[in-house]
Amino acid sequence: PFDMLIVGGGPAGAAAAIYSARKGIRTGVVSERFGGQVLDTMAIENFISVPETEGPKMATAMEQHVMEYDVDVMKLQTAAKLVQGDEYLEVHLDSGAALKAKSLVLATGARWRQMGVPGEQEYRNKGVAYCPHCDGPLYKGKRVAVIGGGNSGVEAAIDLAGIVEHVTLLEFDKAMRADAVLQRKLLSLPNVKVLTSAQTTEVLGDGNKVQGLQYKDRTTGDVHDIELEGIFVQIGLLPNSEWLKGTLELSDRGEIVVDDRARTSMPGVFAAGDVTTTPYKQIIIAMGQGSTAALSAFDHLMRSSAP
Ligand code: FAD
Repeated sequence: PFDMLIVGGGPAGAAAAIYSARKGIRTGVVSERFGGQVLDTMAIENFISVPETEGPKMATAMEQHVMEYDVDVMKLQTAAKLVQGDEYLEVHLDSGAALKAKSLVLATGARWRQMGVPGEQEYRNKGVAYCPHCDGPLYKGKRVAVIGGGNSGVEAAIDLAGIVEHVTLLEFDKAMRADAVLQRKLLSLPNVKVLTSAQTTEVLGDGNKVQGLQYKDRTTGDVHDIELEGIFVQIGLLPNSEWLKGTLELSDRGEIVVDDRARTSMPGVFAAGDVTTTPYKQIIIAMGQGSTAALSAFDHLMRSSAP
């Protein structure tokens, strides 16, 4: 059995693996895609001390750093079930195999809900963005849209309005769902326009980058085009926690509930990164919490058995 088994090979899982291995204990990482969402990212400009890098480059560096240590890295494996065995915690994989461990760090991350319209995939990272904290500054002085009028959409629109030239927020329903105080703040800004009952139907571009979007006015049925350079999709971040339902405490959004030591509701099981209730989904935050989870799990091992 592993002393510490980490599920997920994104920034949170990589950090947990390094912190665990440095304690000299038997460490494993099991993941579908080593690198996680970082693999889908182009410019990264907010990883402190690295002014500029690219996602695939950072993912390779993360993996190389993990491989400096004695870590058993198992790729292309999907965790399907968490079971509290008689003696060990068990992670059952889709392949049918089961891995045993004395402690676990769950770091399976999250995924942005997509609009599912033509052009969205084609122009991902070429004008279609999901993270205003990450990509907002790339649109300085340009025109953007924010899709979604929930709290994250309205927060994104307020944030972006301070950077870009103009923001159009498109809400599918008749009214935005964000907190009233956020809506008031948004509507007070001079360079923001809000369209309700607006269904985004297509991302328009020239083959290289976004040039606009098309939407349908759901009250009249009319179709309109808007010229712009960027589209921030804010219709939900889905935690990869479906496989944990019924085993440990999840929030109403499906995030793993953790405390400030990254402990979950199940003894010996810790969690880190975008899959948890920790706010602000960022690489540096996921890495910080991955380190916390590993140190916390090590502390648990010292107290519960002789590691
Ligand atoms: P993830 O990166 O999501 O990694 C999850 C890991 O778990 C992966 O290895 C995955 O394969 C694995 N996994 C999932 N389910 C299972 C399962 N059932 N079994 C086994 N393995 C599983 N952040 C920044 O700080 N700066 C940026 O510039 C930035 N830009 C971004 C741009 C884009 C397009 C996106 C999508 C995100 C961006 N982010 C950025 C956010 C950042 O990528 C995430 O906050 C970060 O990757 C979260 O790390 P994580 O380890 O928690 O999860």
